[in-house]
Amino acid sequence: MNPPHLSASLRRRVRAQARYRCGYCLRTEELAGERMTIEHIQPISRGGLTVEQNLWLACRRCNEYKAAQTHARDPLTGKQVRLFNPRTQVWFEHFAWDASGVLIQGITPTGRTTVIALRLNNIEIVVARRLWVAATWWPPEE
Ligand SMILES: [Zn+2]
Repeated sequence: MNPPHLSASLRRRVRAQARYRCGYCLRTEELAGERMTIEHIQPISRGGLTVEQNLWLACRRCNEYKAAQTHARDPLTGKQVRLFNPRTQVWFEHFAWDASGVLIQGITPTGRTTVIALRLNNIEIVVARRLWVAATWWPPEE
């Protein structure tokens, strides 16, 4: 949820830093048809502060699935792994698109864990991505 007490200038900075797209699934505001929400990377309920270094953009889906999670179980090793941090980590170092451009593949423990925890390939978004691929709007290359 968007913190109501953010200054307009801080909102503008975070939105520009995130390139107006979700830090987790890379969906843009144009494709979402709505503004991304400003999320706390470390949730407030887990001690996260409302400061620029802890804020990023997320789409409503990713934000709701992330909720108060900070860690989740790696589906390959079973170990607890910290979720992807879109401010300090590089998306393409942890994720890749499959050959169809529709599915997000986790290529590190962080990537694998975040794909599962945030349901980055659930059926609703996969159906939408298929349409975007057919329209040549997807996937993003950077
Ligand atoms: Zn998203």
